[in-house]
Amino acid sequence: MSQRVYNFGAGPAMLPTEVMEEVQQEMLDYQGHGASIIEISHRAPPFLEILEETESIFRRLTGLGSSHVMFFMHGGAQMQFSAVPLNLMARKEKRSAVYLITGKWGVLAEEEARKFGSTRVALDGKPLGFRKIPEWEEILDPETSYVHLTSNNTLYGTQWQEYPDTGEVPLVSDSTSDILSRKEDYSRFGLVYAGLQKNLGPSGLALVLVREDLLGLALPQTPKLLDYQLAHEQRSLANTTSVFSIYVTLKMLRWVEKQGGVAVMEQRNREKSKLLYDVLDDSELYKAVADPENRSICNVTFRLDDDEMEKRFLEQSLNEGLYALKGHRDVGGIRASIYNSMPLEGVKALADFMQDFERRET
Ligand SMILES: *Cc1c(COP(=O)(O)O)cnc(C)c1O
Repeated sequence: MSQRVYNFGAGPAMLPTEVMEEVQQEMLDYQGHGASIIEISHRAPPFLEILEETESIFRRLTGLGSSHVMFFMHGGAQMQFSAVPLNLMARKEKRSAVYLITGKWGVLAEEEARKFGSTRVALDGKPLGFRKIPEWEEILDPETSYVHLTSNNTLYGTQWQEYPDTGEVPLVSDSTSDILSRKEDYSRFGLVYAGLQKNLGPSGLALVLVREDLLGLALPQTPKLLDYQLAHEQRSLANTTSVFSIYVTLKMLRWVEKQGGVAVMEQRNREKSKLLYDVLDDSELYKAVADPENRSICNVTFRLDDDEMEKRFLEQSLNEGLYALKGHRDVGGIRASIYNSMPLEGVKALADFMQDFERRET
């Protein structure tokens, strides 16, 4: 068998080898059905059971109660940039939403929302190069349809530590890159969405959690497949869903549960990220990108001042089996994405490599 690398890619991200092996074993014959799960109807009992168990484990892991419905939608996280305004703008007559922009994904979400109502950027981290999440406190106009934020800024490695209080106005979170990475009371949000490919499974779908009173408000032009009410009523099956993505997500959720749940994930992610931040803080060579107060436990970002040296860092790390450390093309530098599936040993290998590299090069 070929050697699996430690994959630090931001997404699609690595999945635990035991999850991948299970998928491999079942690929030709899913539990004695004589066919793969991707060859069986999405309305047949084997898949309906998968869908049901996926929801019940997610609820068990997060404590999400009956106040919120849960479903999957096509198009990954960015399709939700459109689905959110289409479904929530009309909550208030003014059709206006507030966006808290702490990174590139927030910028794109707001650009999309503008097509369906008026938006106001109430917080903009851009002047600070998105290295920091600025303080935000404001008495909101209660006629605001919703407030949107990005819980973890995948490109820059910053993460909200405490969410703002938006009172009666529903808070919407793009939680794509930190869902299930730390204990979180998702019921405090009106809506949460997450593309699957960072912490949950394969790309292409988004997991959506919606407070029940926010259903049924879609604008008339909302495409059928983006209507939250319909997605809920049809239990994610308004059309043929990505059966494979949900199947793998179930295995991933079972894996999280077997490890001890979200609290254990959080503890490990804190330990992993601290290992890297300690190396950065002790170093003369590496410069951490994110402000210490907003550091993410999911994506650790840093730079080397010398471009040539950075290139050598990337080449040599790859030779050590440390894969996909190149930062996002908009940010540059190095980014280590260390989601739930990344084992502590992988992060230790990276920390050791970083220290060796610094010794060699300086
Ligand atoms: C990766 C990412 C996205 C984009 O996801 P797609 O599924 O490719 O649309 C959006 N938001 C955040 C926070 C992300 O990390």
